[in-house]
Amino acid sequence: MNPDRIGVMVNNLEPDRLRAFAAAAQLGFKVVHTSALPEGWLTGPERAQYIAAARASGLTIHSMFVGFDGQSYKDMDSIRRTVGLVIPELRAHRRGVAKRYVSLARELGAPSLAMHLGFLPSADNPDYEPLLEAVRNIADCCASEDLTLRFETGQDPAEVLLRFIENVDRANLGVNFDPANFMLYGTDEPVHALGILAPLLRGVHCKDAIASGQSGVLGSEKPLGMGEVPWPELLRELEGCYAGPLVIERETADDAYRGRDIISARMLLTRLHPGLWRSLGPALYD
Ligand code: MG
Repeated sequence: MNPDRIGVMVNNLEPDRLRAFAAAAQLGFKVVHTSALPEGWLTGPERAQYIAAARASGLTIHSMFVGFDGQSYKDMDSIRRTVGLVIPELRAHRRGVAKRYVSLARELGAPSLAMHLGFLPSADNPDYEPLLEAVRNIADCCASEDLTLRFETGQDPAEVLLRFIENVDRANLGVNFDPANFMLYGTDEPVHALGILAPLLRGVHCKDAIASGQSGVLGSEKPLGMGEVPWPELLRELEGCYAGPLVIERETADDAYRGRDIISARMLLTRLHPGLWRSLGPALYD
């Protein structure tokens, strides 16, 4: 596979947000997803510094991840209480935060925003419709600037996310497919989920994990190739439905090992099944 197609979640590589773009470029990455910023950076003096650092790197930003102050992914309960747009009392504020990313993405030439919604309420929950309305509002703001809005997969089964997106009913919606999240949350099987979400596929995270096997207990993230995601089969399936970047994510390793794991993942993806991408054309070969 052409290594230029393999990207990285930029702050997994280097936590310092102003140094991270240069660090990724120095390692030869050409494309990145950007990690969420502290909310204060969206309006404060850091905003201009962040834009300057991104531009100076020459990297292509494939998607900017939206995040919110106070989120915790420590365990299932923390995620339920703190993550995404599903928390009614935080929704109006977070909707405003998400919209601030729209202008930032435009200035950086990024074509999309991406986000975790949190654990979706069931369709008969009284809060389902207000959530739909908030997401429509953000999607329309994105559309006004020609951006797509992508939802991270895995916190719910693929069918549930698909139904939610159908109910939001906006043309600029898609998914960022993260197969490891289905293992971490115990919600689905990656190849099955890809079959359901393929028509909405706008991005892919290359991350690995093992399921906990216990309801309500998060699985464990692992270096790529050392978890339960069936990468050879998944890459074969992706060949038929996705030609965009494959973005490496490595979130929970110690700082000392995260960079090593990211480089190992890139080597694995570059070498794995070199014939898989034939249909995409000779330019994609090493
Ligand atoms: Mg991800």
